[in-house]
Amino acid sequence: MSFSYEVLKTDPAGGRCGQLTTPHGVIETPVFMPVGTAATVKALTQDALETLGARIILANTYHLDLRPGHKLIRKLGGLHSFMSWKNAILTDSGGYQVFSLSDLRKITDEGVRFRSHLDGSEHLLTPEKAAEIQLALGADIAMVLDECIETPAPRNIAEAALKRTTHWAQRARNYFLQHAKETGDPQQWQFGIVQGATFADLRRESAQQLLGLNFPGYAVGGLAVGEPHEVTCEMAGEVTALLPQDRPRYLMGVGRPEQLADYVRLGIDMMDCVLPTRAARHACVYTSEGRVLIKNARYMEDQRPLDPNCSCSVCKRYTRAYLRHLFAAGEITAAILATHHNVHFYLDIMRQIREAISFGQLEKFASELHARYNIGPA
Ligand SMILES: [Zn+2]
Repeated sequence: MSFSYEVLKTDPAGGRCGQLTTPHGVIETPVFMPVGTAATVKALTQDALETLGARIILANTYHLDLRPGHKLIRKLGGLHSFMSWKNAILTDSGGYQVFSLSDLRKITDEGVRFRSHLDGSEHLLTPEKAAEIQLALGADIAMVLDECIETPAPRNIAEAALKRTTHWAQRARNYFLQHAKETGDPQQWQFGIVQGATFADLRRESAQQLLGLNFPGYAVGGLAVGEPHEVTCEMAGEVTALLPQDRPRYLMGVGRPEQLADYVRLGIDMMDCVLPTRAARHACVYTSEGRVLIKNARYMEDQRPLDPNCSCSVCKRYTRAYLRHLFAAGEITAAILATHHNVHFYLDIMRQIREAISFGQLEKFASELHARYNIGPA
């Protein structure tokens, strides 16, 4: 069996440890997935990602379809081969980027028509097309196309988007299953995405409707887009309470380091966020003592590592003074080193979360994580 998911241990506080098996390796959950938008995690080589222990990364369908194109990637052996990555890949549906990056979006029941942010060319993304592209890319886990709306959203807008999201999920599922019937096992899992904005009853309704489509895993989308953390947690909790225990749950686009354990407590198994990589490029590094803005002049003579408690290769070798100098001088090595540390930091938090669950101490770990960030330097 090429795909499976198994819960191995649950914590009294609500989180669970599990094992997600894919054709490209076994992933211990809960897991954080570094974001590799254009078939690369910015500033990290695949060697570095392997050293860091990344077992799954995320790639963006929208970007890869516009450049270099899914047909070229298929011709070159699929995304794993193209980017020389032997571990697992999850691709998004492209929907979020269409809604956030492109111009002249026109949404109809058929799909979403948009202009590329690269060259202005016109494209139509439908549920079937999003599934087709992700099959061509050869992602281990593919997402269905959903309608993303701006938040806070009025209830009628959220209701309409929810209705369309379910309709699109049905079409994406039909396309995927028909493709599997015609061409054999696609070696891919397709996940549904629960929407419903910040309305608890709409979230429950969306989850119930998707359960009828029997996806092997479920994502919670449209959260962590500006609403308070408590609301994100409340909405995610409404959804996970309804989802089957034996399938993975993925909370899309989260989160800040101190929030990761909160989501795991709600029964979330998978997360992704550009924060550790994007912040690193802006000289913001996450440490066990809080955030460090390494460009600051106060670090000019600081001989300590970025994080004295970190075991990553950057902290073992380089000083804050050196990192500060690289950022001040605009050297590309600055981004490389800071990104390496930040991704290590996130993956290490996930290791600690899994360990805390194995000892039944997730609640304690979660509150310690918040405390560290509340006292840390801004
Ligand atoms: Zn480090």
